[in-house]
Amino acid sequence: MQAQKFGARIASPSQAARLDTTHERLTALKHEGGTLDTYLANYGLPPGSRPAVDRHDRHPARRARERGAEMTRDSVLEARYVVKSFGATPALRGASVTVGRGEILAIMGPSGSGKSTLLHCLAGILVPDSGQVVFDGTRIDTMPENRRSALRRDKFGFVFQFGQLVPELTAEENVALPLLLAGARRREALRRAREWFGRLGIDGLEGHRSAEMSGGQAQRVALARGLVAGPEILFADEPTGSLDSLAGERVMHLLTAAARDQGTTVVLVTHDPRVAAYADREIIVHDGTVTTTPSAPAAPVGLALRENR
Ligand code: ADP
Repeated sequence: MQAQKFGARIASPSQAARLDTTHERLTALKHEGGTLDTYLANYGLPPGSRPAVDRHDRHPARRARERGAEMTRDSVLEARYVVKSFGATPALRGASVTVGRGEILAIMGPSGSGKSTLLHCLAGILVPDSGQVVFDGTRIDTMPENRRSALRRDKFGFVFQFGQLVPELTAEENVALPLLLAGARRREALRRAREWFGRLGIDGLEGHRSAEMSGGQAQRVALARGLVAGPEILFADEPTGSLDSLAGERVMHLLTAAARDQGTTVVLVTHDPRVAAYADREIIVHDGTVTTTPSAPAAPVGLALRENR
């Protein structure tokens, strides 16, 4: 579904070169074929660009379990009365949600209700027709595209339903891509990428291509790619949607554990209550509006995870 939404727009390499989120670049490369070198030659940032890693502006990672259940989180991301239509099709009709810093939020609801559109508006991929999207106190819906692109590259990570690994690249090259696109040196990017393989239980697969991996393994590689640059917010759209329940559970367990470990906020779209059970809180999107917004996190951090294992 994502590949369709984004891929359909990409008609030529020059068009693709104008797209500068990792996700869009990956989709572009997938459609054109190529190696890591041709990819970086085509889409790499100018020399001297500051890597997204080791940034001084990052908030210190805070383990969720170190925070008390009663502690209120400050808001890191907010959608206010967001309206978005695609031609005559309304997707969001005034959706509002607040995401707490370090929170794992599940966006649930039936197919076609507007979940993905809400996620794309929150991530600055789509611009609302009206309403506001505020990240870290700054409106991003009014930012020019180049600033939103830089924001997505430097502060956000993405995982999608079908991992969307670049098939021509090895697993470690796929994971290293966000670092390379942000200007990290190749050797350092690959070193950091490799660290994730043991962490996510996929060591030994570093040199494999997606055709040589199971769906669950490929999705763990995609998860590593989403987290490798230490994003402030990880956006995950049906990250287990293509997996059987056992593999899906493993991915969700790893996703939530890694996010909590590095203090990453997670915004997760799913229609599966078993997946949503890993979140701290869930909201339901119905007909383009958010119908359930508990005023505070529904459960103490980690409780949902423990209760559902
Ligand atoms: P969900 O993620 O809940 O399945 P979506 O946000 O993908 O829902 O879609 C909400 C509505 O907007 C649906 O009617 C869908 O067909 C429409 N829609 C979403 N994206 C597009 C698009 N790129 N072009 C046209 N219509 C779209």
